[in-house]
Amino acid sequence: MKIAFFSSKSYDKTFFSRYNTFQELRFFESPLTLESIDLVNGYDGVCVFVNDQLNAEVIEQLAVRHVKIIALRCAGFNNVDLQAAKAHGIAVVRVPAYSPHAVAEHAVALIMTLNRKTHKAYNRVREGNFSLERLTGFDLYGKTVGVVGTGKIGEAFAFIMKGFGCKVLAYDLYTNPVLVSAGIQFVELDELFAQSDIISLHCPLTPQTNRLINSESLEKMKPNTMLINTSRGGLIDTKAVINALKNGKLGYLGIDVYEQEADLFFNDFSESIIQDDMLMRLMSFPNVLITAHQGFFTEEALTQIAQVTLQNLVDFEQGQLNETTTLVN
Ligand code: NAD
Repeated sequence: MKIAFFSSKSYDKTFFSRYNTFQELRFFESPLTLESIDLVNGYDGVCVFVNDQLNAEVIEQLAVRHVKIIALRCAGFNNVDLQAAKAHGIAVVRVPAYSPHAVAEHAVALIMTLNRKTHKAYNRVREGNFSLERLTGFDLYGKTVGVVGTGKIGEAFAFIMKGFGCKVLAYDLYTNPVLVSAGIQFVELDELFAQSDIISLHCPLTPQTNRLINSESLEKMKPNTMLINTSRGGLIDTKAVINALKNGKLGYLGIDVYEQEADLFFNDFSESIIQDDMLMRLMSFPNVLITAHQGFFTEEALTQIAQVTLQNLVDFEQGQLNETTTLVN
C-alpha cells in the first residue's frame, strides 16, 4: 500500500524506514488539514499523529480521495472523529500500548525536576554559582501521590511512586486489580484531590474528563499541591490553573501536554514571537515546568510505535485487523 505520513519528523522517517518491508511510505512534514488534503491523492492510507485533526470534514475528503485506512502512530485518538470514519468505511488503527514506562518515567522526571530544581542547579553550577539558596526540595518518601486513570501508564507510574515510599491513592472508573493487590487504595476523586501532595493525570481526554482540573477541583486540593499532566492538555482548564498558581493553591505544575499545543509543539519557534499569551504566562512562573509532548520519546517506544503501526497496515491489507489495535474496521 501507499501510505502518506503527516506531521512527520526525522525520527519518524528513521524508525519507520528501519522496520518497513512491505509498504511504500512518503513522509510529509505538513499536518493533515483541509489545506493539505490534496497531498493524500493517490495514497491508500494516511499515518497521523496526536495533533493532526481528523474531524468529519477532513475524513469526508479522505473518503473522496479513496483513502481506506487511518493509521494513528499514537495511543490517544481524541483527535479523530471515529463516527465519521465508520460512516465512510475508513478503518482506524492505533498503537494502544508502546512502552507505558516511557510516559510514566517522564511524569516522574517532571516531579523530580520541579521538586529538586535540577534544571536550575545545572545552569547555576555552569555559571560558577554554587549557592543552594532557593533550591530547597522535599522528600518524596512518605508523601501522598494521587493517580487519576490507572490504565497502562497510570499503573506503571503508581508502581514507581510506591517504590519511592509514597502513599499512592488512585481513581479510575474501574478498579485496577493489579494495583489493589499491591496495596494501592482506590478512592473517590474528591478524596484524592483533598489528600494528595502530588496529583498526576493518566486518563484519556473524553467529554467526561475535559477540564477535569478546573477552579472547583483546584479548590478541593491542599495548598501547595504539585499537579502533573502527561496525558492530554484538555484535561486542564489552563486559566484556572494560572489563577491557582498565582494564589498558591498549586505549588508546582509540570505539563508535557497543553490544550493549544497543536499550533506549537514539535516545531521550532525559537526565533518567532509566540502569540499564545496563556502559554507565555505559564512559562513566567518559576514553579512551572513545560516539556513539548516528549513523554513517549524513547528508543523503545519509537521502535514499538513503528513496528505496531506497520503490522497494523499489513493486517489491514490481509483483511485480518487486530482487535486490540483497531478502533474502526
Ligand atoms: P489506558 O487506556 O491504558 O488507560 C486509561 C485509563 O483511564 C483507563 O484505566 C480508563 O478506565 C481510565 N479512565 C477513562 N475515563 C476516565 C475518567 N473519566 N476518570 C478516570 N479514569 C478514567 O491508556 P494509557 O496507555 O495509560 O494512556 C493514558 C493517556 O496517556 C492516553 O489517553 C494519552 O492521552 C496519554 N499519552 C500521553 C503520551 C505522551 O507522550 N505524553 C503518550 C501516550 C499516551
